[in-house]
Amino acid sequence: MEPKFVEYNGTQVIEGWPEKIIAAQSKKTDIIGGIEYPRVPYGQEAQDWGADNHPCGDCAVIKGQLHVPFCDIEQCAACGEQALSCDCDYEEDE
Ligand SMILES: [Zn+2]
Ligand SMILES: [Zn+2]
Repeated sequence: MEPKFVEYNGTQVIEGWPEKIIAAQSKKTDIIGGIEYPRVPYGQEAQDWGADNHPCGDCAVIKGQLHVPFCDIEQCAACGEQALSCDCDYEEDE
């Protein structure tokens, strides 16, 4: 079956993705190594990903929104590295 795309934040995303973006907004913190950190919203990363000009290139959130979990762009709140690839000890909350 071909995936369907919908428009969200002015960009094409896979069907069902907007719901993931909305859900991501309610997860405001990550527990890393037993300490709760506020997640880093798009546009507040140390590196400029162009948040003023376009939605996140990976998860399509707009500036100020929290990334969808496992987004490539999300910055680790603990170490400042890419959250997906850093060595921090993320605690799963499910
Ligand atoms: Zn993102
Ligand atoms: Zn980290």
